[in-house]
Amino acid sequence: MPVASRACQDCNGEILRGARRGSGNASGSSGDHRGRDPLGAHTAGGRKRVMKDEYDAVVVGAGIGGVICGAYLASGGLDTLVIEKADRVGGRMKLDKTSPGFTGFEHWVTFGQGWGGGAWYKAARELDADVSFYEIPEPCLYYRGTGKGFEIAPRCSSASSLLSYYESLFPTPLPEATRQEFIRALNYAGSIPYEELFCEPLANIPFYDWKDKLSTDPVVVGFFASIAANSTMCESDEAMKHLSAGGLLSIFRFWWMTEAHCVAFKPDYVEGLVRPFATAMERDGGELALGCEVVEVIVEDGESRGVRVRDEGGVVREVGAQKVIVNGSFLDIPKMFQEVPPEVQVSVDSFRSVAFHDFTVYAEMKHPITEEPHPVSVVDPETGSNLLMIWALSNAFSWYAPPGKQLIFASRVLPIDEEERKKVRKTLKVEMDEIIEEVFPGYGAAVEKKHYSSHYPLWHYQHTWYPKIPYRSKSVKNLFFVGDCVEPQYSVTVDAAASTGVFCGKAILRLEGREV
Ligand SMILES: Cc1cc2nc3c(=O)[nH]c(=O)nc-3n(C[C@H](O)[C@H](O)[C@H](O)COP(=O)(O)OP(=O)(O)OC[C@H]3O[C@@H](n4cnc5c(N)ncnc54)[C@H](O)[C@@H]3O)c2cc1C
Repeated sequence: MPVASRACQDCNGEILRGARRGSGNASGSSGDHRGRDPLGAHTAGGRKRVMKDEYDAVVVGAGIGGVICGAYLASGGLDTLVIEKADRVGGRMKLDKTSPGFTGFEHWVTFGQGWGGGAWYKAARELDADVSFYEIPEPCLYYRGTGKGFEIAPRCSSASSLLSYYESLFPTPLPEATRQEFIRALNYAGSIPYEELFCEPLANIPFYDWKDKLSTDPVVVGFFASIAANSTMCESDEAMKHLSAGGLLSIFRFWWMTEAHCVAFKPDYVEGLVRPFATAMERDGGELALGCEVVEVIVEDGESRGVRVRDEGGVVREVGAQKVIVNGSFLDIPKMFQEVPPEVQVSVDSFRSVAFHDFTVYAEMKHPITEEPHPVSVVDPETGSNLLMIWALSNAFSWYAPPGKQLIFASRVLPIDEEERKKVRKTLKVEMDEIIEEVFPGYGAAVEKKHYSSHYPLWHYQHTWYPKIPYRSKSVKNLFFVGDCVEPQYSVTVDAAASTGVFCGKAILRLEGREV
């Protein structure tokens, strides 16, 4: 079984476990060669080595949640293996197709909870992972057909400051009673502790069903509907039904009240964010097996015992583990079990009941047609729904396009199933082009090449009301889950998945009596 990992030449390929930091070693299962310099004793990385028969912990999947969890386990001294079926880390973070010299990306934003420190940010500090990031300019709203310029959302510090911005979008001032109600509701929404946004009951009730608790004023609710729509690139009513109350309030807090930063990574999410955690894990003695698929999590007598893995050559073998941690999407996880744990099945069924699709275009421009660096949310003035999110990516981050050229990205989400998607995609392409032309005149003439894509968007989990999968199985001993379909999670988007890796990794270390 080939495993990409650092091997120690001085000890015939054995991993230098003693080089890990903070290894409490309570179970005594590891810790040889303590104190050696890992850089001096190991090859430069990437050397193939053979997967062992038994580990303290096996993590299935190298998404951000799995890799961060694995990095914590390795840093605490557990003999850890992360198995990934793809030939790279990063999971759902993947680049969209663009031409050479251009950098497409699926992910144009992630959050850090609280200014200066999200889950990934704190994890990078604690694990000393080499992550650096670039702040994304504030979004701006463009009300289609109004002839008004783009209104850039300020960094709001109070309900009054957000109200001023919101009012500036209307032709006439709001009635005084509405203004007072707006400030009251915003202050209430801003006062709920973060932890409560991501747990029961707020995490698992649609905002639509909860909104009366916030306000019954249609203008105030309309404001939140508009936030829901323009943060998910969707229609306002559907967005409110789909987002959990806690999810929408967290988006409101993070983005519109500016309690968090939105960032991008260089050159992209995989290399700039996930890879450094994988490197930290390997530095601390963990192993990463790429191109190997777990065909089954072995469960015997109500306890997980390890996994069955198919390697690159198609050979299936068993790898034992004291703890199995599963990272994956709602679609991946059920495939790994002969009998899906009931608490997992409930979440999967709920997820399957919702149909959404996103539509994206990456347009490579012969020359720049706009200097606008802000992402532009094009809003339907009548409904507050989002019609398109357009962003000249390379204006904010120059490495997205070759010198002298420009990359424009636009995306929209519709609450439709696969059949509907096939029907609307042609007309939608035309409509998207028309809107981009309205926002950035000269677009059509300057396009060199366009790449359209459409996904079943596996990216709404974090804000949604599905009962998520509990991080620790209620029915199978020593079985754990990480990723954005898992709870508890303490943030939004990629950071939500990261937060589950931190939470689960630390919880297991505590269970094992290890130093966290
Ligand atoms: C189109 C799209 C756009 C998005 N946009 C954004 C955005 O703008 N901002 C943002 O912050 N987030 C965005 N997201 C969400 C973000 O990508 C996810 O929240 C995050 O990547 C999920 O990470 P995860 O740890 O849950 O697991 P995943 O990324 O799902 O990783 C799970 C891993 O497990 C592996 N795996 C599955 N089954 C097996 C098996 N049997 N054996 C071995 N390995 C297995 C998979 O190959 C995968 O690598 C977007 C997602 C999508 C799809």
